[in-house]
Amino acid sequence: MFYGPFSESIIGKAQENDLIEIEIHNLRDWGLGNYNQVDNKPFGGGGGMVIMIEPVYKCLNQIKKNAQEVKNPKVIALSAKGEPLKQSKVKQLSNEKHLIFLAGHYEGFDQRILDYLVDLKISIGNYVLTGGEIPAMVLTDAIVRLIPGVVGNDTTPTTDSYFKDDQSRQYPQYTRPAEFKMNNGQQLNVPDVLISGDHGKIKKWKKENIEK
Ligand code: SAM
Repeated sequence: MFYGPFSESIIGKAQENDLIEIEIHNLRDWGLGNYNQVDNKPFGGGGGMVIMIEPVYKCLNQIKKNAQEVKNPKVIALSAKGEPLKQSKVKQLSNEKHLIFLAGHYEGFDQRILDYLVDLKISIGNYVLTGGEIPAMVLTDAIVRLIPGVVGNDTTPTTDSYFKDDQSRQYPQYTRPAEFKMNNGQQLNVPDVLISGDHGKIKKWKKENIEK
């Protein structure tokens, strides 16, 4: 699932330019028995399967051992029960040297994984997806674009929505043509101030028109 999104566009280029390094691990490589089992039935009954602690424990130990130059990399479980993701958290995480994302599946993780093996539990919203892969990609994308040099125009992230705080949105943006007519005759024009060339007025307009 990861190869498409991670090998294209800005994230792909960030790796080509050695600004970031992404490794993908398959939990089954640490699975138990002949079938490399990673899940089992929940104690106490209930539908679905639960990810076992043992493969996760071994997997995390191995990854940490392989990355010895970074002491205590942060381990983040993607979990619908986790802290809702906000840009302030993304910013904080973009300063970390090494992050390990743990993507769940099936019914989720044995609670001991969440309680004892991870530093953070992050949810990308109050809804449930089939697995943690897409949330891990969302988190990766949001973090990577804040790493200096990743987004071509260095000033872009600083004017983006939520850059200043978790509430602030970006002002509306327009491009050519300045005048556009729809088939029903309705004319859609760009605000005059933006094509006035008056930088002071444009700055003021942008400030006043931040979307609420
Ligand atoms: N039984 C779990 C619950 O009710 O909270 C949902 C498990 S979900 C089907 C399987 C996996 O998808 C989770 O372990 C988690 O890794 C991931 N996942 C699903 N929704 C998510 C969300 N909103 N944010 C982050 N991860 C999510």
